[in-house]
This record gives sequence, structure tokens and C-alpha cells, in this order.
Amino acid sequence: MANGLYIDFEFCSGCHSCEIACRNELELGITDFGMKVLEDKPRQNPDGSWHWDYIAYPTELCNLCEDRVAAGGIPACVQHCQAKVLYYGTIEELTAQMLEKGSKGAIFIP
Ligand code: SF4
Ligand code: SF4
Repeated sequence: MANGLYIDFEFCSGCHSCEIACRNELELGITDFGMKVLEDKPRQNPDGSWHWDYIAYPTELCNLCEDRVAAGGIPACVQHCQAKVLYYGTIEELTAQMLEKGSKGAIFIP
């Protein structure tokens, strides 16, 4: 059963803590990313409201924190997400959680 990450990006603040936690965990250089926070810049909707989202995106370097998970822990990005919008689990669990939320969610399988 495959595992992955679910991000409820409605409340992602763009704080970049997940990027830093991941870089420390994978011992990456400053220019490498196992997690990258993307920014969907402000743009105005037809109704006049504004759209501005951040989406944390695991890169090809993400290994789902295999060492931490094997030791009984949770992924570093999940642990350090200040807004608590990152979740780790089986795809089935994450899909159920995302469907229950119903909006602004994405599941990543690295
Ligand atoms: S699960 Fe681990 S390796 Fe993957 S993005 Fe999160 S911190 Fe990085
Ligand atoms: S740590 Fe959480 S709130 Fe901060 S940028 Fe990453 S996903 Fe968003």
C-alpha cells in the first residue's frame, strides 16, 4: 500500500518551515529542495476577490523520510509545519481525508 503526503493548502502560510525541515533531514545543500513551497501569485477573480495560494510540493528528492518513519517517527515536514496542513499516511487514508475537506487539497506520491 503506497504512502504519500496530503497538503490542505487553503491554510498554508508560506512560512517555508517544511523546506528547512526537509533540507535538514536529507542533509541537502542550500540550493537543493526535497520540499519546495510554490506561490500562486495574487490575481484578481472575476468577482473582484483575490486569489493567493502557497502550495508545498515534494520534489524528486523526497523519500518520505524513510529513516524517520522506519524509526517510528513522522516526516520532518509534517512535524514542523506550523499551520498543521501537512499529513502523512496511506493514499487511501489521505484520499478520505482530502475528500472530507472537499477543497484546496492535493496528494503527492514522490
Ligand atoms: S516527507 Fe521528508 S523527504 Fe519528503 S518532503 Fe517531507 S521532509 Fe522532505
Ligand atoms: S510548513 Fe506548512 S504552512 Fe509553512 S509553508 Fe510548509 S506547508 Fe505551508
